[in-house]
Amino acid sequence: MMAHSKALLVLENFIGGKFVPCSSYIDSYNPSTGDVYCRVPDSGEEEIDAAVKAAKAAFPIWSSKSPLERSQILNKLADLIEHDLEAFAQAESKDQGKTITFARTVDIPRAVYNFRFFASSILHHTTECTEMASLGCVHYTSRAPVGVAGLISPWNLPLYLLTWKIAPAIACGNTVVAKPSEMTSVTAWMMCGLLEKAGVPHGVVNVVFGTGSKAGEALVCHPDVPLISFTGSTLTAQRITEKSAPHCKRLSLELGGKNPAIIFDDADLSQCIPTTLRSSFANQGEICLCTSRIFVQRGICSEFLKRFVAEAKKWKVGNPSDPTADVGALISKEHLEKVRSYVKKARAEGARVLCGEGVDALTLPTGNQKGYFMLPTVIAEVKDESCCMQEEIFGPVTCVVEFDTEEEVIERANSVKYGLAATVWSSNVGRVHRVAQKLQSGLVWTNCWLIRDLNLPFGGMKASGIGREGAKDSYEFFTEVKTITIKH
Ligand code: NAD
Repeated sequence: MMAHSKALLVLENFIGGKFVPCSSYIDSYNPSTGDVYCRVPDSGEEEIDAAVKAAKAAFPIWSSKSPLERSQILNKLADLIEHDLEAFAQAESKDQGKTITFARTVDIPRAVYNFRFFASSILHHTTECTEMASLGCVHYTSRAPVGVAGLISPWNLPLYLLTWKIAPAIACGNTVVAKPSEMTSVTAWMMCGLLEKAGVPHGVVNVVFGTGSKAGEALVCHPDVPLISFTGSTLTAQRITEKSAPHCKRLSLELGGKNPAIIFDDADLSQCIPTTLRSSFANQGEICLCTSRIFVQRGICSEFLKRFVAEAKKWKVGNPSDPTADVGALISKEHLEKVRSYVKKARAEGARVLCGEGVDALTLPTGNQKGYFMLPTVIAEVKDESCCMQEEIFGPVTCVVEFDTEEEVIERANSVKYGLAATVWSSNVGRVHRVAQKLQSGLVWTNCWLIRDLNLPFGGMKASGIGREGAKDSYEFFTEVKTITIKH
């Protein structure tokens, strides 16, 4: 008897409150097996235009709702996603390659929280008012939603980052056309199935699936989309900036990083080592905030390396659905090859690979032999000018180098084109403040990593981005401000 292959999951665009099939599709792979498991619409100008029309039509009603009404709907959507948390987590893990534990504890809870957070924060904004008594004038500002927001998100934290855009955009009264990464579209599609039940009117949230070059660019170039919020690579951001320039679009760009950890000789290594392992290898190193350059003060460097490498070797690479796995699969075969090529280049330059790729054996379960797995890899004796110390690798690879003085390490940490996140480890309070002030980095964590208060600005300096996101920053980005003067 012939075995029947399991039917592929086929996604549809969500336009004007309805799922709509597309005329062509692209394959999406399960990174932990290498098999095609899902088909994603290969949308282009036509689908984007239909979605923009639906979003435009929904704008007058949605934008005229009170913040409280919108807040209630966002909260309801959060509840519905939370109710299905396990199904969302399973889908995210299968689609992206991340461990089920990470999806359960980070991605999906944060997607839920994004809606709850903006549902609450939208109720608490105030606008400014000034008085010019001598001229008999008061001035005040009013803020209004901008219109149809174009939202483009990457594959590393799919629903987490998409909802970080959808939630503030619609909380402020905009309607949206979202384009998730073609490699990780499933959870966005699942969320579309909950919108009506949450009370989101048709056309407020439209999701169009497809590639960046076709669907993404059609959204960026659409004349009726006045603002684009993009998270992804610096290279794509350059293209988006060029393409949107003729329309003078408002852009928020959250981009790549080459994030340093600076570890002084008075650091508490019992805290620093486990956190720096996480900051280097969490989500397979596929987080824009991951540490990839570790500067350790000379006096403690050999002890740090000994302990760090011994702990890195304990990280278990395995089937993402195994709850004991620490590292899942990388997003694609091409990306795995790219990450590996950096380790190869480091070796060719004379650096030492202390563990991981090419050093330790990677054993995988039978069903995962064709998956895109890689061991956490630590590289030492690498030069600051090496591409491994300058370029974003975006995988489970981190470089450890020595430094002597505070001034020296600040200069070296700043000597890359990026400026997203940094960590500083020291028990000297004066020093952590001094160093944090001097680092060219949108975020600095001292003696910790990845602790976020969503109220505060998130974003990068230099090639890591333009603009900030957070309670106040997202509110400002997703609204247009007007100054009104009244003379009495
Ligand atoms: P990417 O730039 O290749 O793609 C991101 C999104 O843009 C995808 O949806 C893609 O389809 C789309 N896209 C690609 N070309 C486009 C074009 N010409 N016009 C419009 N859209 C286009 O990035 P990626 O590989 O998906 O994600 C990894 C990158 O994202 C890394 O550089 C990482 O650092 C960065 N990132 C940054 C943050 C942050 O908050 N700063 C967060 C996560 C990821």
